Amino acid sequence: MAIALLTLTTWAAYGGLRSQSLDYTYIIFLPLILIAVQQGYEKATLAVLFINIMSVIFVGDKAQGSNAIILQFGLMAVSFSGVLLGAIVTERQQIQKQLYYRAIHDNLTGLYNRAWFLDRLKQNFTQSQQSDDAQFAVFFLDLDRFKGINTTLGHIVGDQLLVAIADRLKTRFSEHSKLARFGGDEFVLLVENCRGLAAFESVAQQLCETLSQPYQVSGYEIFITVSIGVAVSNFSYELSENLLRDADVALRHSKANGRSQYTLFIQEMHGQAARQISLENDLQHAVRKLTAANKQQLEFEVHYQPIINLNANEITGFEALLRWKKRHQEWVSPSEFIPVAEDVGLIVPLGTWVLQQACEQIQTWQQAFPHFSQLSIAVNFSGRQLLQPALAEAISTVLQNTNLSASSLKVELTESVAMQDFQVTEMLFRELQALGIGLSIDDFGTGYSSLDRLYRLNANILKIDRSFVERITCSRAACEIVRVIIELAHALEMTVVAEGVETTEQAAQLRELHCESGQGYFFARPLPPREIERLLKSA
Ligand code: C2E
Ligand code: CA
Ligand code: CA
Repeated sequence: MAIALLTLTTWAAYGGLRSQSLDYTYIIFLPLILIAVQQGYEKATLAVLFINIMSVIFVGDKAQGSNAIILQFGLMAVSFSGVLLGAIVTERQQIQKQLYYRAIHDNLTGLYNRAWFLDRLKQNFTQSQQSDDAQFAVFFLDLDRFKGINTTLGHIVGDQLLVAIADRLKTRFSEHSKLARFGGDEFVLLVENCRGLAAFESVAQQLCETLSQPYQVSGYEIFITVSIGVAVSNFSYELSENLLRDADVALRHSKANGRSQYTLFIQEMHGQAARQISLENDLQHAVRKLTAANKQQLEFEVHYQPIINLNANEITGFEALLRWKKRHQEWVSPSEFIPVAEDVGLIVPLGTWVLQQACEQIQTWQQAFPHFSQLSIAVNFSGRQLLQPALAEAISTVLQNTNLSASSLKVELTESVAMQDFQVTEMLFRELQALGIGLSIDDFGTGYSSLDRLYRLNANILKIDRSFVERITCSRAACEIVRVIIELAHALEMTVVAEGVETTEQAAQLRELHCESGQGYFFARPLPPREIERLLKSA
């Protein structure tokens, strides 16, 4: 632009020189001024215009002949230098402005970025150290299972979803808080005057509700939930970064406790965070050994819990349940290590290993015990595993390698996972069904199914969650709920497995309600393979 102005100015000067007329020059000079103003060089243009007008008023009228030409030339030289200099300065300022904008904004969403947030946090922190009135809260947000969206629907859809989420946050929260994208699928909010439990809970609830409304992106309806960690400023903090660290620790708690929730940081969490990190390390170490040639080194085992046909009182199959003896020393409960494995992605190699072991094992038993040639095996799958590319193909390969018929395998997915990643589940279920693999909805009753979705999934088995079964003989309401679930399952052509059967009364009641199968300590606990063999021999 500076060069264009230079050309025009020179042309105007030349025109003036040739015609020896100021009017001619100004006719050309006028568009030049307009262009310069349009380009944002207002200050430079105004300065030049001012010099020109002053010169014309004070000198122009008096100049005659060659004096006028010299004056004209001088004026043009001043104009030229003025506009050129102004243009250069303005352009540099604009570039600087752009650079500054980019330095503090996130390219994708247009929200402020991490650097800006850390700076604001520091400022607020300094104020809060001086006045009790300047206390504030940091909300650390992380989208649940966002990686899965990227892997299944592609990075472009993932990016569009992030933009949609950022827009929603901007509309609802930027007025009352300082908002930034921290990186990946993480967002942060700094909320001033967020005092007391009720205030922070209200913000956290609004965040959860706002973000969990469905998004329409590239023709997909996407549901996503968010986990939140909150840390509230107080005088015991010495560094602003520590507030963020604590919000992050609280966030991990939300994740570990089942996601889609908020947690306020409390001091005790530091110990738990350290334990969690050590568990994660041990788990990494143990998973690495899965491929080791020496089976003695393995820290994992698969145990099998019998599933019983309630009418015939016979074992019809097993559920494979993973067991971990950490460092060969202490057993860690799956409910403790499976969420960690899911969080860090280790569930994928672990799940593959369990599937391989379980298929191999059941095939061996089908061969060794002809009376049990129809035994089936139920294997649990986590949400994270569903996002593996070509999962159905991988399962099919395992079946081929272990020589197990597809109908002997039941893929178990909890109701909440199935409903949350509904489109992914529906797609996978269709593929697995085509292969002849059985499909089972686990922990039913805990995950807010819509009947329409349950119907569309077309699963074969519904497993009633233990929490209903354990109350079936003492609570009329629980008994009625179980009755309705069983009737619903039958109407949708599914068979029912009741989980957590612990007493003979519960088994009898379930039989009366026409529940086909039961699983629980009353029949047998999850057992290692050699004990199952003993059981099968004696049956
Ligand atoms: P789940 O799939 O609902 O498995 C049933 C759980 O109930 C098992 O807990 C089992 O030991 C327990 N259980 C069975 N009968 C009874 C009973 O009569 N009373 C009581 N109180 N409990 C009973 P476990 O083995 O601790 O596993 C917990 C969860 O960990 C499982 O719940 C499942 O969600 C997950 N899990 C276990 N193994 C795997 C695996 O290989 N892959 C994946 N993705 N998840 C797994
Ligand atoms: Ca299960
Ligand atoms: Ca279950």
